[in-house]
Amino acid sequence: MKCSEFLNELTNYLDGALDSRTKSELDDHLAWCHNCYVVCDTTRKTIEIYRDSELYELPEDLRVRLRAAIMTKCSEHKKSDPPGS
Ligand SMILES: [Zn+2]
Repeated sequence: MKCSEFLNELTNYLDGALDSRTKSELDDHLAWCHNCYVVCDTTRKTIEIYRDSELYELPEDLRVRLRAAIMTKCSEHKKSDPPGS
């Protein structure tokens, strides 16, 4: 699973709205991808704040910003890899 795919499913994952197979794919991704782990953790906390204020839906704006942040991190990571042959 790529980071972009993970992010597409992230809110469903946090909602518990996924089938067990997809959920385990997301769990696998979290196990090795620290960037997505951080985003997941941040999003979960954000959702809890919204839930407390009874504004459960994650704003689209926030989703877009989280996604932009993680994709930037992922591309930075790629740049730091040794150049391919
Ligand atoms: Zn990732």
